[in-house]
Amino acid sequence: MTNKERIAKALELAGQTKAVECAPGALKCVPELFKRYFPNKKAVVIADNNTWKAAGERVYDMMLAEGVDCVKFIIPDEEFHAEWKYIEMIDDVLKTTKAIAVSVGAGVINDICKLSSHHCNQHYMCVATAASVDGFSSFGASIVYQNAKQTFECPAPLVIVADVDVLAAAPKEMTAAGYADLAAKIPAGAEWMIADLFGTEPINSDAWHVLQDVLDDMLSDPEGVAAGKPEAIAALFDGLTLSGIAMQIAGSSRPASCTEHLYNHILDMTHHRYKGKLQSHGFQVAVGTLTLCAFFDEFFKMDLSTLDVDKCVADWPTLEQEQQRALELFKDFPVPKLGYTEITKKYSDKDAVRVQLTRVKENWPEFKAKLQKQCYTFEKMRRLFEIAGAPTDPSQIGVTREKLRADTDLTQLMRWRINLLDLAKRAEIYDTLVARVFGKGGAWEIK
Ligand SMILES: [Zn+2]
Repeated sequence: MTNKERIAKALELAGQTKAVECAPGALKCVPELFKRYFPNKKAVVIADNNTWKAAGERVYDMMLAEGVDCVKFIIPDEEFHAEWKYIEMIDDVLKTTKAIAVSVGAGVINDICKLSSHHCNQHYMCVATAASVDGFSSFGASIVYQNAKQTFECPAPLVIVADVDVLAAAPKEMTAAGYADLAAKIPAGAEWMIADLFGTEPINSDAWHVLQDVLDDMLSDPEGVAAGKPEAIAALFDGLTLSGIAMQIAGSSRPASCTEHLYNHILDMTHHRYKGKLQSHGFQVAVGTLTLCAFFDEFFKMDLSTLDVDKCVADWPTLEQEQQRALELFKDFPVPKLGYTEITKKYSDKDAVRVQLTRVKENWPEFKAKLQKQCYTFEKMRRLFEIAGAPTDPSQIGVTREKLRADTDLTQLMRWRINLLDLAKRAEIYDTLVARVFGKGGAWEIK
């Protein structure tokens, strides 16, 4: 099956996005696709200063030339993240222009247009200018609201256009960031298997296969990605698209995001900068991805078939103790109640922990083998990132290993979704895992 066929099949399952056009020169299809999917509607091309130059202006001119009633809006700021004030800005643009948003840009502009369009009860069209994230085709928008990074439920774009010539001309770091965002689905998939075993979020088979069946293939050409080879970049964009469609099918970001993304959420919520600049989603996710690969490496060296389930259950804290721990850990965080809220949602009582741990213990050799088959080792992932041009060390995004170590405690508590660290807490191996990764000889040894 070609990627095009795969995407077409996946779109049928997802039922939100109607068309994806990813090819060299695809920009010229924008007016015709707009007219087909938004007949007799007015368009507003939404870009920033960079993406206006990269594609926005051409899209706008072609729309006018093809007789589409079209206006433009350029977000004036030079550097921005997906924050609420931009949602208000674009809500306002859509209300005053009474037009359909045509988002021209990368992940941030797309997420903003996605949520604002939803606020205005209308669909929108996405023109991607970089293969930098998987959010183009995803269900939901990830926005910082009241200091907390949150995923707002909203439908994916009706139409997606990605001109491979435009994607290939994007800054190399953006493509490398997209590569890392795609690679994140390796550990995220493994953590979904854990949630599946626990029964908290069963694997949605369609969403799983759409992405995981082709993931290895789509990560196999980091050289091509780094060199800006059109075929490699098109394949990367296809992979990111399938990842977004997997989220559409699941109606959640579970297929594409777990603990590795939470390291990024922490950095976004604390407005982390390195050398004065905000760091990209994908680069922050790269560090989280490597960290999770390192955790899995150490996890696989353990033998959970001999787990003392009775002892773990006897030692398991009460909800009040967990809430207290969360309040303590998050006391200096921009959202001090975040850990408290999330652990309250995901807390398992002693009976549930007994069931979960018994499943791990009784299925250990097969379950471990399944996880191992899914995961890449830290070394393999590090090598791929090195070739692709993504970070291979937290210092490259201005994060110390000490901070990464401290953030790990937050990631375990900051989302209700079950992850590897939850399993480790229950099995009383959390401290050992962390000590091995950040200790002497560990992947992120603190010197
Ligand atoms: Zn992502």
